[in-house]
Amino acid sequence: MVKLARFEDGGIAMTKSAFICSPGLWQSGHGAAHPLKPERLQRTYELLTAYGAFDGPESMLVSPRLATPAELGLFHTEEYIEAVRNLSQGETEFNPKRYNFGPGDNPVWMGMYETESLKVGSTLVAAELVTSNRVDVAFSFSGGMHHAGPAFASGFCVFNDAAVAITWLRQKGLRVAYVDIDAHHGDGVQDAFYDNDQVLTISLHETGLYLFPGSGFVEEMGRGAGRGYAVNLPFAPYTDDEVYLWAFEEIVPPLVERFQPDIVVSQLGVDTHHRDPLTHLCLTTAGYTAAVTAIKQLAPRWLALGGGGYDIDVVARSWTLAYGIMSGQEFPDDLPSAYAEKYGGGSLRDHDRPHISPEPVERARRYAEAGVAALKRALEI
Ligand SMILES: [Zn+2]
Repeated sequence: MVKLARFEDGGIAMTKSAFICSPGLWQSGHGAAHPLKPERLQRTYELLTAYGAFDGPESMLVSPRLATPAELGLFHTEEYIEAVRNLSQGETEFNPKRYNFGPGDNPVWMGMYETESLKVGSTLVAAELVTSNRVDVAFSFSGGMHHAGPAFASGFCVFNDAAVAITWLRQKGLRVAYVDIDAHHGDGVQDAFYDNDQVLTISLHETGLYLFPGSGFVEEMGRGAGRGYAVNLPFAPYTDDEVYLWAFEEIVPPLVERFQPDIVVSQLGVDTHHRDPLTHLCLTTAGYTAAVTAIKQLAPRWLALGGGGYDIDVVARSWTLAYGIMSGQEFPDDLPSAYAEKYGGGSLRDHDRPHISPEPVERARRYAEAGVAALKRALEI
């Protein structure tokens, strides 16, 4: 059992960054055989703690709370919220299949309602801290559950904390730019605001030709008033740091600067990494952190969310680096001894690059160039 030190109640003023965390986030999960392992959250917290990431006066550790049914209802249907609660208690009043639950991606487990509404509560606590100007950035690293729909689970996601929080931000009258760098298309968030010109959604991901959820093509650009406010930049398998960052810079900064958001919400999934077992992109921590740094530069206020990532070592290192960028801390490259003794040593940053033959890299480059050109034409960037 890890010792949690220095959890604040959010009452300290003039702090720059907040990390939203409690052990409740990793005490139950999708099951031993499922790729989404709660341990990844614990490992990230332990690595940050070992680096002393919350020791300074500018960085605070804040406990989440459960989202209320009314808060979940900002995006989800009442029936679905009740079904999740019922199924989570092992009851059978609702048919799980009706809500896309079942063996495989979206199993039902005991305690599911509490764990998943704690993730939404984390994101809402982060949103409250940022919008009240108590911090410049808050990282709800257990959130970013971007696939869930209003009345169905999808892609390991039960409640869509991003869609709930963006709706909450909209109720405050804020213009929101949502930037999703998870390897999978942020379909649930895109769909939630598809006809809305006050929410700009930009998703960078592996093409839906090869990866779940099979959507997120350049042609998906929004509907009605929202036309031009949903943006998709898909990548081919074997896309590396260089191609990814080139495309990111061509599309994301010009669009976010033109939109002039009050706040940026980012989904920072780390399944773009070359060691991720579920996807086919080939980024390293250098590419990932460059994208996170670019998002920081675009964000007047910043609500950062977690997301996918299925290699636990990569997740812990990448989100530690991401929180370092958010909070302005540079962590030494050698993993701290307390952490290294438990999980093995090594370095925080990748020092090896994936070995890929030239042809697939060239194919990935051409695919990205075509996508960027099409977006630039359509969106007049
Ligand atoms: Zn993902």
